[in-house]
Amino acid sequence: MRVYLDHNATTPVRDEVADAMDRALRAQWGNPSSVHAEGAAARAAVERARESVAALLGVSAREVYFTSGASEANNTVLLAMAGGPGAADRHAVTTTVEHPSVEAPLAALEAQGLRVTRLPVDASGLVDSAAFAAALEPTTALISVLHAHNETGVVQPIEEIAAHVRARGIPLHADVTQSAGRLPLDLPRLGVDFASLSAHKLGGPKGVGCFVARSERAVEPLLRGGPQERGRRGGTENVPGIIGFGVACELARRELPHRATALAELRDRLWEGIAAKVPGARRNGSREHVLPNTLNVCFPGAAGDLLVQALDLEGVAVSSGAACASGSVEPSRALLAYGLDVASARASLRFSLGHGIDAAQIDHVLSLLPDLVARARAAERA
Ligand code: PMP
Repeated sequence: MRVYLDHNATTPVRDEVADAMDRALRAQWGNPSSVHAEGAAARAAVERARESVAALLGVSAREVYFTSGASEANNTVLLAMAGGPGAADRHAVTTTVEHPSVEAPLAALEAQGLRVTRLPVDASGLVDSAAFAAALEPTTALISVLHAHNETGVVQPIEEIAAHVRARGIPLHADVTQSAGRLPLDLPRLGVDFASLSAHKLGGPKGVGCFVARSERAVEPLLRGGPQERGRRGGTENVPGIIGFGVACELARRELPHRATALAELRDRLWEGIAAKVPGARRNGSREHVLPNTLNVCFPGAAGDLLVQALDLEGVAVSSGAACASGSVEPSRALLAYGLDVASARASLRFSLGHGIDAAQIDHVLSLLPDLVARARAAERA
């Protein structure tokens, strides 16, 4: 039996999504920009998908712009809002625990003179929402916050942050890649102006996502060359990917109320089992402000990367840190920012649950973990 507990890295594609994409590849292969019937069929399907993505986020379809994923969406929004001519006279506010697809474009703009304030997080991984208001300057052009952390699931108080900065009218961008489909999201109510997400974290395919722009402010495209996406993202649309994204959002919206409760119960079952059976295990990050599907645990004295390998051999997929950073010897930047020492960060594992996981699978993992942790600890001591 394989137990896949790495849904924050990516999710298995839902059957309904694969079926819709298969049909789309065969039937809706037209170019959505073409005026003939083949083009019109593809255009109609893309627009239906836009409606479903918008419905999941509480925004209108015309505020959704399809991209190749959240990395492109993050890059587009950051470079459009904080980059370009005059970047050296601007300022941006973010946190110390952003995803690399936010941190890297900001760092690149910083090299061109943008000033960046990175607000710290406390031991539970939360930022102080009032600190945002204090950090604003007359030239602040953008605030960017990772809504739910991919490694720990910690959810930032985005609504409070928005309330603190609203009066200044500075655009607030939230990376909602991990929270979309896992928490009810109403972007207008949260006070978010721009958002980024990716289909493959909610049962859709890889290589497609979107940014949401609720402001009528011009967004310079990252990819120039075509009028697609109302001039904000050039290039022929990934029609089957977009259709799959739409179906995934529709499923997520329908299943969300039940799903969030069910996942939180399984996550708690996993944590309670670990706490009872594995001496010394500690949970990382806030327990209240956290995604229902994510559990990050430190097993002091065990090497996280060895545990990942040992669990994999037993049929269980988890990760130590983010998927893109796995395999690197660097300890998690986020856990260090929460105040963990390097050894504790290296001894931490992320369990991320999703569709298809049940109590029997959790119990199976719990039957394996104590022994594997004991062996990993013995190996460290040897
Ligand atoms: N933001 C967050 C929070 C993520 O977890 C990821 C995926 N690891 C991304 C952005 C980037 O998504 P993609 O790789 O699909 O572009």
